[in-house]
Amino acid sequence: MPTAVIMPAPHQPLETRACEMPALPPGGVLLETLFSEVCGTDVHLWHGRLAGVPYPIIPGHVSVGRIAAVCGTVKDIEGQPFREGDTVAFLDVHGSCGRCFYCTVAKATTRCPERRVYGITFSAGEGLHGGWATHITLKPGTRLLRLPAGLDPAAYIGGGCGLNTAFHAVERAAVAMADTVAVQGAGPVGLSCVAFARLRGAGTVICLGAPADRLELAREMGADVTIDITQRGVDERLREVRALTHGRGADVVIEATGQPGAVAEALHLVRDQGTVVIVGQYTDAGEITVNPHLDINKKHVDIRGCWGSDFSHFYKAIAMLGRHHRQIPWRRLAERQYGLADAQRALEDVAALRVPKAVIVPAP
Ligand SMILES: [Zn+2]
Ligand SMILES: [Zn+2]
Repeated sequence: MPTAVIMPAPHQPLETRACEMPALPPGGVLLETLFSEVCGTDVHLWHGRLAGVPYPIIPGHVSVGRIAAVCGTVKDIEGQPFREGDTVAFLDVHGSCGRCFYCTVAKATTRCPERRVYGITFSAGEGLHGGWATHITLKPGTRLLRLPAGLDPAAYIGGGCGLNTAFHAVERAAVAMADTVAVQGAGPVGLSCVAFARLRGAGTVICLGAPADRLELAREMGADVTIDITQRGVDERLREVRALTHGRGADVVIEATGQPGAVAEALHLVRDQGTVVIVGQYTDAGEITVNPHLDINKKHVDIRGCWGSDFSHFYKAIAMLGRHHRQIPWRRLAERQYGLADAQRALEDVAALRVPKAVIVPAP
């Protein structure tokens, strides 16, 4: 019988429950969960900071599993049928409509009003649609990918949701060969931004963050220089980045912190006519003051928001992971593992920033 962790409502203790084995609709897929994760979004869910969440929910929006059953024929993007035993990941976003203005005209499916997200916008009453469970049922039309041969599922979950988000952010930043890229934040998104900026050909990658062990990981992920924000004040950080760039500032700054103040700092760290991508402000953490003349207009700076990710980011991010996981230690981000019974502790450890990521291992 499947077991799932339920988040009944914001600020309420998690519960572990036995659930019915669901009947699969045609085109549906049943997974045995290998790994899921606790990310910052789950903390936001627990704090009630996301709108439109149909509590109670089974959290866990990015997961990897083994196919236990397929109802009918479900094919991958190349037309190959999925089989029982395949190790797969799936895009957490489901049901982008393909008909609305954003899907068809703007070609920005992350803004589709019909989109739903596993582990976030499905209620527990609708089925096993979150990853903190022994089994996940995937609805018809869910976009699955087989993991590339030789890719450890633990390395995939080490990248986790931050992998897609970071891929999108680095693509949106249009990092060019030899660029100096400053990444603000050393959480899972920031660390994968460091890796992808490096793979995209950045000349120098600077990571500004904390604590020291995450900065060490940032260097292993590809950062040339790390700046500990608990040891250096805002002015010192700016001086340091300018000293690395002949006084000009970084060509590209990627904000992946969740702190509104980091956006104001990004506008100082970037060079004139540089690019700032804001990916860390996933929930409303408040307002900041900027000087529009000095920081934006006169500086001729390009500021780009980056929300969610689509199938292309998922597809390409996994391809890059499959190619580079031996050199880049995504696997190390999956080191802190918790069973379903410890999901509460996992959530609290991520909320308190004691671990960059908590991996949920549902198998007993
Ligand atoms: Zn749509
Ligand atoms: Zn996430």
